Amino acid sequence: MKPIIHTHDAIVVGAGGSGLMAALYASRGADVAVVSKLYPTRSHTGAAQGGVSAALGNNEEDRWEWHAYDTVKGSDYLADQDAVDVLCKEAIDAVVELEHMGLPFDRFPNGKISQRRFGGHTNNDTGKPVMRACHAADRTGHMILQTLYQQCIKNEVNFYDEYQVVDLIRVDDTIRGIVAIEISNGQFHIFHGKAVIFATGGWGRCWEVTSNAHSLTGDGAALCLRRGIPLEDMEFFQFHPTGIFKLGILITEGVRGEGGVLINSEGERFMEKYAPSIKDLASRDVVSRAIFLETKAGRGINGQNYVHLDVTPDTVNHYFKQDGYTDRHIDKEYIEAKLPDIADFTKTYLGVDPTVDPMPIQPTAHYGMGGIPTNVDGEVLLNNDTVIKGLYAAGECACVSVHGANRLGTNSLVDLVVFGRRSGMKVADYCKDAELLPLPEGSADEIMAEFERIRNNTGSVKHHDIRKEMQATMTENVGVFRIQENMDAAVVELAALKKKYVEEMSIDDKGALFNTDILEAWELGCLLDCAEVTAVSAANRKESRGGHARDDFPERDDENWLKHTMCYLQEDGSLTIDYKPVVIGRYEPKPRVY
Ligand SMILES: Cc1cc2nc3c(=O)[nH]c(=O)nc-3n(C[C@H](O)[C@H](O)[C@H](O)COP(=O)(O)OP(=O)(O)OC[C@H]3O[C@@H](n4cnc5c(N)ncnc54)[C@H](O)[C@@H]3O)c2cc1C
Repeated sequence: MKPIIHTHDAIVVGAGGSGLMAALYASRGADVAVVSKLYPTRSHTGAAQGGVSAALGNNEEDRWEWHAYDTVKGSDYLADQDAVDVLCKEAIDAVVELEHMGLPFDRFPNGKISQRRFGGHTNNDTGKPVMRACHAADRTGHMILQTLYQQCIKNEVNFYDEYQVVDLIRVDDTIRGIVAIEISNGQFHIFHGKAVIFATGGWGRCWEVTSNAHSLTGDGAALCLRRGIPLEDMEFFQFHPTGIFKLGILITEGVRGEGGVLINSEGERFMEKYAPSIKDLASRDVVSRAIFLETKAGRGINGQNYVHLDVTPDTVNHYFKQDGYTDRHIDKEYIEAKLPDIADFTKTYLGVDPTVDPMPIQPTAHYGMGGIPTNVDGEVLLNNDTVIKGLYAAGECACVSVHGANRLGTNSLVDLVVFGRRSGMKVADYCKDAELLPLPEGSADEIMAEFERIRNNTGSVKHHDIRKEMQATMTENVGVFRIQENMDAAVVELAALKKKYVEEMSIDDKGALFNTDILEAWELGCLLDCAEVTAVSAANRKESRGGHARDDFPERDDENWLKHTMCYLQEDGSLTIDYKPVVIGRYEPKPRVY
């Protein structure tokens, strides 16, 4: 079967919050196609619960500069401060724009958008938590996705739903398009265009316990890597402290924002020890490590590796009083109104009503801070400052870098809208003058041959077995706490798994219709690439910073490691590492104070 060729000015890969925002803005000046393996409103952005941050100051004083400082501090000083300024300044306008598009935010009694507290967001003068997370109950991402999808339809964006992108067409330093498979019938398609924007989300499925959807397999990051583009800061992966025990399903930080507290088997609110001033609302890496240490010290509930997250009114009101919040008081109805989906999840999956009983939780693999390197206009970088023509990235798959070594809660949704918008605008501008460069002969041949290879391989190993082994080694060796020996072991094991993937893996379904067997096998290849870059980058960084915590190098080392990692895949399959300087602005690196 020959590939079918489509031509559009710009092709957006992915229909989450970043892809839709980019498509919407690009469509104001260009003919845009969105190609997505999921139906757009099924994208993971729809699972985001807690909120989107912007210093609106609707209920108390707030400033974008405070948001910027919190973001830089949360990033353990690895974020590029020029990019952080753009994020925090433009967040305000972007959130108001979402409201004007019709997003049904919760409201304060005065009619303004409701905001709540979230980890790491503070009033810089007092150090106390500030209300910065704008939210629509605990379904903020769902509302963003629905709102943006409607706007894209209105703007006549072309949607190719359930098409899986499997290759990027690059000729020297220009991009000519992408290759995709139509999932329903296995037909190959080439999307020929002037510009491609990757907005494919994260790779949390590299780990065993994760909050990420099954579809988050790092396809965009892996495709770029295979076409000579480096991946930046992949060693920094965030473990969210509160996933449902064993399942990993996320319990939003909004629960702690509303007053919920973490309790160990001795009934102790242990965060008082680890972060005396901000306690349960310390940044996620700090809280995840605290839970890990508590359970390791035998203070997990029933001796197991989980603790309790308690948002029952009696407990919350008790700690409000203890923390000096005399004006705060919650009841059952308040929790049910503010956290309806959480109450629903825990009842469904655990049989626990969070207004009556505490929830069993453990850290869960959540968010990739690294990814495809871009500047603040979404243009993809080949090294420190060389841009590759026609290639853009936005959202979780991109590394701008605004999150540095650790992301603050609610800063991803705002990253999607701010940098989705900026990359869309840049693409509209680029397409006005750029020429449509010709497609090289046989642009899809290489990837079609790879699919034939996977289809016809006759080994005895199944992709789910390799996936399990990869997840086990990543959890054990490149998880919440890390040491050299374990990371080195993971690098060796991942190389062996890649060999097994090529030589011994076979699939059962040889057909063309809805062949999820072959697509999952191909996705495993992307996961293995992302896992390997993560492990190699982690083993290389000999310090602790943000989400990368080492027992053998427990301190942050600004003298040697205040720099971004850039990991390249060489033609012989090896990975090499280079560095990029961090952009420092108003905030000189300071030691962390908890
Ligand atoms: C459970 C959960 C709760 C969260 N809560 C919050 C929160 O409250 N606040 C916050 O700021 N952040 C939150 N986050 C993080 C945030 O939601 C994500 O980082 C963000 O939504 C990612 O958006 P995205 O646009 O980059 O990609 P996604 O929304 O993940 O979408 C990826 C898109 O890429 C497409 N795609 C992927 N691969 C291919 C391929 N090969 N071919 C074609 N299409 C492809 C998919 O179809 C999909 O449309 C949460 C994350 C999770 C998992």
